Amino acid sequence: MKVLIGIEIHVHLLTKAKLFCSCSTDYEGKEPNNLVCPICLGFPGSKPKVNKKAIDFGILAAKALNCKINPEIFFSRKSYFYPDMPKNFQISQYEIPLAVGGYLEILGKKIRIRRIHLEEDPARLVHVGGDITSATHVLADYNRAGIPLLEIVTEPDFTSTKEVREFLSKLSSILEHLEIFDPSKEAGLRVDANISLEGGERAEIKNITGFANVEKALNYEIIRQKNLRRIGKKVERETRHFDAETRSTHTLRKKEFEEDYGYIFEPDLTKIEISQSWIKSLKMPELPDKRVERFVKQYKIPKQQASVIVYIDKALADFFEDCSKIYKNYKQLAKWIVTDLLKCLNWNKITIRESRVKPKSFVELLKLIDKGKITERLAKEIIKEYVPTGKSPEQIVKEKKLVTIKGKKELEKVVLAVIKENKKAVDDLKAGRKKALEFLVGHVLKKTRKTADPKVVRELIEKLTK
Ligand code: ZN
Ligand code: MN
Repeated sequence: MKVLIGIEIHVHLLTKAKLFCSCSTDYEGKEPNNLVCPICLGFPGSKPKVNKKAIDFGILAAKALNCKINPEIFFSRKSYFYPDMPKNFQISQYEIPLAVGGYLEILGKKIRIRRIHLEEDPARLVHVGGDITSATHVLADYNRAGIPLLEIVTEPDFTSTKEVREFLSKLSSILEHLEIFDPSKEAGLRVDANISLEGGERAEIKNITGFANVEKALNYEIIRQKNLRRIGKKVERETRHFDAETRSTHTLRKKEFEEDYGYIFEPDLTKIEISQSWIKSLKMPELPDKRVERFVKQYKIPKQQASVIVYIDKALADFFEDCSKIYKNYKQLAKWIVTDLLKCLNWNKITIRESRVKPKSFVELLKLIDKGKITERLAKEIIKEYVPTGKSPEQIVKEKKLVTIKGKKELEKVVLAVIKENKKAVDDLKAGRKKALEFLVGHVLKKTRKTADPKVVRELIEKLTK
């Protein structure tokens, strides 16, 4: 059964002021309902004014996503009754959005982008004593109301949750490179997903935050629809809510269509002309695809590794380049970032930005391996403690009394001593008894307190007993 998924992404744009007033957008951790004015509270008689910066940011995103930007745009009122919007409509764009017809390529496949538009965020609602379906009451914080949102709508081109994950990760990295979005902000990126099985009705899951939750919600919904079909029931067209705690989706409302919102032209705002010279005046920074190409060329690292580093997170790509200034073995650097560093970050459920990992201390770990002071195996242990604590790797070696391998010369000395002390085993080895080799390796490891690499020791013994 073929699965079809389309998504709508709402992204907080990183402007200093809200979309239609001069209130600050820096609402995290602030006392509720302090960053407000008559405009974002929707008082009668208040008049919105467009923040040009938000349109600049929208244009940049539209260009990066290969969209056609409309030469003339306007805003519309999307009518609905809900406590997150006191004026009972949201100023959005409907008939003529900012841009249409783009695409983003992931895993060698083009995902088409239907439209991109600007709108105001509603208030943040806090459900008390339960979730959206069971709360006893609701608190509203209008600090968030009016923050500019960029809504990006794709065609139903995804056929798996893996593709959605890749898309979101790359999209987030692009927006970060454009410096119009901060992925570390809570609720900074929210996803609505439409899911259907080929030939069936679609269900829409609203307002999923966090990439991991998007995956869980989609997986649940795909199984639910497949099960319905298996027992001969139809999937109903409806809007569903994802409950992160039970990892399941539930009916919110049935059969709603975009036209039901009764859009009307926003009479308090004028049409906005977007001229070619406006578009050209906005400087386009280096974007992820170009950055991957440059990494491959400049640092001679494999494309697959460069893609992982750049598409996961701009901060990770910046980290790679910061390290490259003080450490020139780029292949080793890239390899350790995409394998053990990422594994440990994922394990601790943090991003590079949230972690205490710094270029200087990370490079210190790699240099310990290069100098032959620790084995790669020991480094894999050290990094597990290093990532959550940010402690200097040398410090970890000292504190845990981890014995580092001595230089090659010193290791040779130990091997020679073991050979001398175990004449019988050496004779056995020469006579072709493989067990004797392991016996000798064991002795060397014991003397070096297991800090030597068994493979290296084996080779050394073979060489020195010939
Ligand atoms: Zn305001
Ligand atoms: Mn929207």
